[in-house]
Amino acid sequence: MWPVSPKPKEAVRIEIICLVVVAVCVFIMVVICIRRGNQKEHNIKVAINSISTSPFPPPSVDIQRDDCVICLAKIVTGEHVKIAQPCGHLFHAVCIDRWLLTEFRCLNMLSCPTCRRALVLKKQVVAT
Ligand SMILES: [Zn+2]
Ligand SMILES: [Zn+2]
Repeated sequence: MWPVSPKPKEAVRIEIICLVVVAVCVFIMVVICIRRGNQKEHNIKVAINSISTSPFPPPSVDIQRDDCVICLAKIVTGEHVKIAQPCGHLFHAVCIDRWLLTEFRCLNMLSCPTCRRALVLKKQVVAT
């Protein structure tokens, strides 16, 4: 006796089940990727926010230049600034936050826009 091939209806049913299983697997993988991406983004923001903000001119800091190399504008007294560590270069807080977020998304690194040294942060980016 030769094995009986499945009836067309059963074959269609099996194909549908396979398609549903594949679709569910793809959906689960997409959800996992999105969650990992969100977690990474959150970790980067926490690390960037760990750079303390102070009004210009910051106390007890030797100011060598009073312009922001990111937006090229002069930093006005009272504007919020952030100082990169360990180099001590100074930027508008809003400018350096955007710079670092973009740099990390594109290059997976956080460096000073002026001297390109790797930044030392109070909170490091947690690998996910
Ligand atoms: Zn700026
Ligand atoms: Zn620097």
